[in-house]
Amino acid sequence: MSNTSILLNRNRQFASDFSSENLPPMPILRTIILACVDARVDPAHILGLELGEVGVIRNNGGRVTQAVIDEIGALAFMSAMADGSEPRPFDLVLMQHTQCGAERFADPGFQNALKAKTGLDVAHVAISDHEQSLQEDVERLRTAPEVPGYIVVSGYIYDVQHGNVREVIAPAALAL
Ligand SMILES: [Zn+2]
Repeated sequence: MSNTSILLNRNRQFASDFSSENLPPMPILRTIILACVDARVDPAHILGLELGEVGVIRNNGGRVTQAVIDEIGALAFMSAMADGSEPRPFDLVLMQHTQCGAERFADPGFQNALKAKTGLDVAHVAISDHEQSLQEDVERLRTAPEVPGYIVVSGYIYDVQHGNVREVIAPAALAL
């Protein structure tokens, strides 16, 4: 049995007592979380998310890339359309974590080897200091014309050895 079969079997169990058919398309808690793809840092588990509460975007390192900026810009536009004349703020939670693979991206030897072999340049998502990269990501959002200033952004580091989340950047609107 492949690992995908394991997951599909779990879905049959999930669907057998499904009762979430009336959830709204926009997240109930008006929150988007940006996190790393690392299997140890699934926000649904760490933050006790229920279906329909929060939107989640994940990439290597949980970094703000142009692709993330495009996603946030489009989501903000859809959210504002749903709100009508007065768009209500929503929260964007940036969550990095200890022992992140993106810390390896900061090694020039690794960067050069990856670029030589695949053409991929990961310098802009490398993490050498979590607090500094969270600050950089907030600045990337603040200076991105696609992202409205009323979005409330905060930054956290999840500790994979202890399970706790530490605040690095308190929630504040980008335009403040
Ligand atoms: Zn990671």
